[in-house]
Amino acid sequence: MPDVRNWQLGRTMAYPYAEHHPEHQFAFVFNINRCLACQTCSMACKSTWTFSEGQEYMWWNNVETKPYGGYPRHWDVKVLDLLDQAHRQAGVEPAWQAGTDDREAPYGSYEGMTIFEAAAAEKPPARRAIGYLPTEEEWRAPNIFEDVAVQGRPAAGSLGLESGGAQLPEHIAWFFYLQRLCNHCTYPACLAACPRKAIYKRPEDGIVLIDQARCRGYRKCVEACPYKKSMYRPTTRVSEKCVACYPRIEGKDPLSDGVPMETRCMSSCPGKIRLQGLAPVAADGSWADDPQNPITFLVRDEQVALPLYPQLGTEPNGFYIPPRWAPRDFLRQMFGPGVDRALERYRAPSRELLAVLQLFRASQQIIFRFEIEEGPRVFETEIDGKPWAMYNDTVIGFDQQGREAVRLTVEEPIHQRPAPRPNSI
Ligand code: SF4
Ligand code: SF4
Ligand code: SF4
Repeated sequence: MPDVRNWQLGRTMAYPYAEHHPEHQFAFVFNINRCLACQTCSMACKSTWTFSEGQEYMWWNNVETKPYGGYPRHWDVKVLDLLDQAHRQAGVEPAWQAGTDDREAPYGSYEGMTIFEAAAAEKPPARRAIGYLPTEEEWRAPNIFEDVAVQGRPAAGSLGLESGGAQLPEHIAWFFYLQRLCNHCTYPACLAACPRKAIYKRPEDGIVLIDQARCRGYRKCVEACPYKKSMYRPTTRVSEKCVACYPRIEGKDPLSDGVPMETRCMSSCPGKIRLQGLAPVAADGSWADDPQNPITFLVRDEQVALPLYPQLGTEPNGFYIPPRWAPRDFLRQMFGPGVDRALERYRAPSRELLAVLQLFRASQQIIFRFEIEEGPRVFETEIDGKPWAMYNDTVIGFDQQGREAVRLTVEEPIHQRPAPRPNSI
């Protein structure tokens, strides 16, 4: 297998195809701390793309309650368990080595095996990535265990959830919502596993699609995708997955005025937890330096948003600001070793970060560039024993054509209704 560069692992890794990178990469940042679990995102996707016969269990976007919830049920516990078994058989310790904080290896270096490398280590090697096919029963209840909290720690080793100790400085009982859709991975396992070469990654925006005419419904993609975001439709006998609302990304939605627009699940979020964008990609596959692009700024510069299970090796392009109140060991397993730094920066955000955090779900147009106009200092306090100040800066977002799409202040403005009609809207 060719070696490809995976910046999330801080090393090269084996992948069935050589590197070919898009000009831009469809990517998103979700702030878990703000999610209401209202499922508006799930319904926005379902009512747009998956309302037909045979798509009843297809939730291309879903929101599950961690640690017990999962769609399909226990998807991540099962995948982690398969990877764990592969490591034990190969006698490899899946550890992360601390990094040098550089952009090439921001989370350090992963010394375990990815799902591709674990498949190659099987004797004889018979598949492109390790994985499993969920049962019908596992697809049946998309929001099972909603709002079920953990009191203290899960029992060591049970379901493979957590075996180390946990520090719970914030909450003893905890759960959090995990918002999920296809990560339009840089190295998609679905694409790698497809024997028909029916899955492709678009060169213009990195969106991963299944060619419905080429697909023969072998379900190798369903088996290989570790995030379980490729789904089989029995009425057409082919597989389907999130299409990243590509007509909106192409600026073809009537509302978009010809510029890329946020997808349905992103633009409908009342919790304002979602920011979606197109990250510029350099020739070597890394994200190009573009600190005024909000997505690049959050992921690569501030490093406050982290990939989901980076150790699986697909280089997912969905990133999460982790929840502040959950056990750190659990979060490190889920988002890698960047968790402590991300939470430290989120707890005491820099002046620029606080301004950029206002851009979440603020515009239907995708924001390609932001600018900040400095405002007055409005608040000061101490966080973790250090002085911290808040400024009422103004953040301005620009669309692909450089037109102003949104302008917001850090402090929300107060509008006072006129006295004669205090309750009217
Ligand atoms: S719409 Fe937003 S707030 Fe509601 S569940 Fe989805 S991500 Fe969470
Ligand atoms: S999340 Fe799964 S379905 Fe989506 S691109 Fe990655 S491997 Fe393919
Ligand atoms: S991006 Fe579009 S197709 Fe994909 S989950 Fe969101 S709404 Fe559905």
